[in-house]
Amino acid sequence: MTKAIYPGSFDPITLGHLDIIKRASKVVDELIIGVLINKKKSPVFTMEERMAMIEEVVADLPNVSVQCFEGLTVEFARKNEANVMIRGLRAVTDFESEMQIAQTNHSLESEVDTIFFTTSLEYAFLSSTIVKEVAYYGGDISEFVPANVERRLREKFAKCR
Ligand code: ADP
Repeated sequence: MTKAIYPGSFDPITLGHLDIIKRASKVVDELIIGVLINKKKSPVFTMEERMAMIEEVVADLPNVSVQCFEGLTVEFARKNEANVMIRGLRAVTDFESEMQIAQTNHSLESEVDTIFFTTSLEYAFLSSTIVKEVAYYGGDISEFVPANVERRLREKFAKCR
């Protein structure tokens, strides 16, 4: 049985993330989305908000669940008895850091392997940061995020303008 984790900040989840989740959920038996508590970053959305948005969009994927975690990703994998880590690659610029992370994780925990999914072309430019930037200035983000995320971003930034 292949049990996988897909770790990230998901602040917020985008259609790029969702594309990776849907494709990965078809090749593994169980997929756990790990939402990172990162004390070094100040996220726009709270952990509860980030998890709720993901849960809403993966509700129709029976082998996908959502958890939060803090600390080393390999520890999170070990705790869940997962043997695979899923990551997305958007461009060559992602490659260098992702390869370094994957090799570090593999040397920390040899039982865990990383599987990379290359992004679908229409989402190759998408990041949570770009989406927040466009939403902050009132731009149209309907092609970038699921409808529930679009609504929450609008609510969040309505107070700023
Ligand atoms: P991090 O904070 O670690 O960068 P993110 O939540 O931004 O985490 O992303 C988690 C994972 O999703 C990473 O592997 C990242 O490369 C991937 N990812 C992010 N955006 C996209 C996208 N548009 N298409 C494919 N993969 C993506």
